[in-house]
Amino acid sequence: MAGLYIHIPFCRGRCPYCDFYSIVADEETMLNYPELISTEAELISIGLRGKLHIETIYIGGGTPSINQKVLTEIIHTVKCYFDTTEVTEFTIEVNPEDVANLEIDALKNTGVNRVSLGVQSLDDKQLKVLGRRTNEETIQRAYYKLRDSGVDNVSIDLIYGLTEGGMRVWDETLDRVASMKPDHISIYELSIREDNPMLRYKAYDDEVVTMYSHAISKLTSAGYRHYEISNLALNDRFCLHNLNYWKCGEYMGLGPSASSFLNGVRYTNYLDLDLYHHAISRRQLPIEHTEVLNEERRAREAMVLALRLVEGVDIEEFKKKYHYDAKILLKDIPAHIKCNLINENYDRISLTPMGLTLSDELFAYLI
Ligand code: SF4
Repeated sequence: MAGLYIHIPFCRGRCPYCDFYSIVADEETMLNYPELISTEAELISIGLRGKLHIETIYIGGGTPSINQKVLTEIIHTVKCYFDTTEVTEFTIEVNPEDVANLEIDALKNTGVNRVSLGVQSLDDKQLKVLGRRTNEETIQRAYYKLRDSGVDNVSIDLIYGLTEGGMRVWDETLDRVASMKPDHISIYELSIREDNPMLRYKAYDDEVVTMYSHAISKLTSAGYRHYEISNLALNDRFCLHNLNYWKCGEYMGLGPSASSFLNGVRYTNYLDLDLYHHAISRRQLPIEHTEVLNEERRAREAMVLALRLVEGVDIEEFKKKYHYDAKILLKDIPAHIKCNLINENYDRISLTPMGLTLSDELFAYLI
């Protein structure tokens, strides 16, 4: 069983804060893309001598909703090369401005049963600063169209850490999103490189930490369960596809910049559509990097991923699976950091609320 990720690398324009690989492409480039994905899927199934059994599918980007024809063709071709008969969760990322033109029933008929809506903010000024091509009204309309069309599992992505509007707008956004009752909410810190002019819109670290803690407290009071550093779910509707990553399960990624993890080996595709296209047209897998993880590396990565989950690491289970004592992997972390950021019980290790807030600093000691 594995998760399948498909990257659709097209956007209407580039948002200035975004680090995902995507380009602004013409119609012809987009319409040719499903054929490339189909060939990649075919090459993989030849290599595996059969169909990989898939449990979750996630189509992300880029903007998968930019062109429904492209999206639908990709879904159909992929189903030819993977065993999708037992897929439990099938998510597509959708931008609010595309929803008015989407035929939701047609997407549901292909098996899509979850939509991740790229909201980021419900404040028009913040949306402008972020370079989004939408506004609050469009977002609300998109959300209720999805609901009225019977999409019963909707996730909303939000970004925090902006100076524009600061804490006041963040608090209002959380209230309004909670009142919409999406099944799942992801909150991501605005992350900006030092050389990006957007840096001037990034709040100071202490304010960012306060915004994060405020969100967790507000959303948990509204009935959401905080289950991963950046993710909360209503009625335990966790993102199964991402849970597979955090539990170090196997996954397959198609498209430029996508990565796969199978039998302890990580494969990363070219991060550029032309290079990807070039490899596929020679019927070669478009892999740029291959990394064989040794036992220690695998255990360390598994530890970092599992600590992202609020439930943390089951020490006994970890030892059985990775042949490493999870407590020994913590030995390089200075004691004063450990005691504030990590809960160590006899059977389980997890992050404290402060550890969840400062996880990046902590994980640097583990990898
Ligand atoms: S629409 Fe999404 S993927 Fe495209 S540039 Fe903006 S944030 Fe990045």
